[in-house]
Amino acid sequence: MNILVFGPNGSGKGTQGAIIHKKYNLPHIESGAIFRKNIGGGTELGKQAKEYIDRGDLVPDEITIPMILDRLKEDDCKKGWILDGFPRNKVQAETLAKALKDEGINIDYVVEIVLDREVAKLRITGRRLCVNDNNHPNHIAFDAIKPVEKNGELVCRVCGGELKTRADDQDDTAINKRHDIYYDDKTGTMAAVNFFKSLGGSTKVISVDGEQSIDEVNADIMKELD
Ligand code: AMP
Repeated sequence: MNILVFGPNGSGKGTQGAIIHKKYNLPHIESGAIFRKNIGGGTELGKQAKEYIDRGDLVPDEITIPMILDRLKEDDCKKGWILDGFPRNKVQAETLAKALKDEGINIDYVVEIVLDREVAKLRITGRRLCVNDNNHPNHIAFDAIKPVEKNGELVCRVCGGELKTRADDQDDTAINKRHDIYYDDKTGTMAAVNFFKSLGGSTKVISVDGEQSIDEVNADIMKELD
C-alpha cells in the first residue's frame, strides 16, 4: 500500500503518518525528518539543507528529489510506504508521478488533512520532537499526545526521551513562509495536492477535517484505508 500524506505544517500530518506506520508497518518517509537527522549527524546533506530549513524555504529540488526517489528504492519500501512532506511543490509532484509510473508503482491513497491557515499556525509552536524517534509525536496542547513530566522536565510520552523544539517552529517568518508555500495552488504544495487529487484511476483521495481531535482525524482516515 502506497500512501501520500498532505497537510500544512501544524495539521498533525506527521502524527497521522506515525499512527498509519504503526498500524500497517509501512516505512514512514518524512522528508523533513530525514533532513533534520542529517543536520543532527553533521552530514554533507545536512549542511546543504540547514540554511533553507532555518529560513522556512524549500530545500532545492536538485537535493530533495533524488534523496526521496533513492529512499523509495530501498528494500523496506517494496511492501509499500507512507510519504509525508514530499512532494511539496508541483515540480516534485510531476517528477514523483513520472518516476513511479516508469517503475509501474501505483499511489493507492492520497490523504489530505484540511486545515485553516490561522489554526495551523497556532498549533505549530506547541509541538515537541522526541530526540529518539520521529514517530513519537508530542504536543503540549493536545491531551492525547501530551509529554510527561520527569524530574521537573517534560519528556517524550512514549519513551521518556529528551524533547526538543524545532528552530523553524519558533520563528514567525519561517512559519509564514512554510504556509505561503503550502497554500500556494499555482506552483506550491496545494498545486501538488490538486495534481494527485485529479489523477483518478485507482488512486483514492481521503480528505479529512483537520480541526477534529487526533483520534477523530485518524478514524476518518482509517475507515477509508481499511
Ligand atoms: P517538515 O518537517 O515537513 O515541516 O519540513 C521541514 C523543512 O524541511 C521544510 O520547511 C523544508 O525546508 C524542508 N523540506 C521538507 N520536505 C521538503 C520537500 N519535499 N522539498 C523541499 N524542502 C523540504
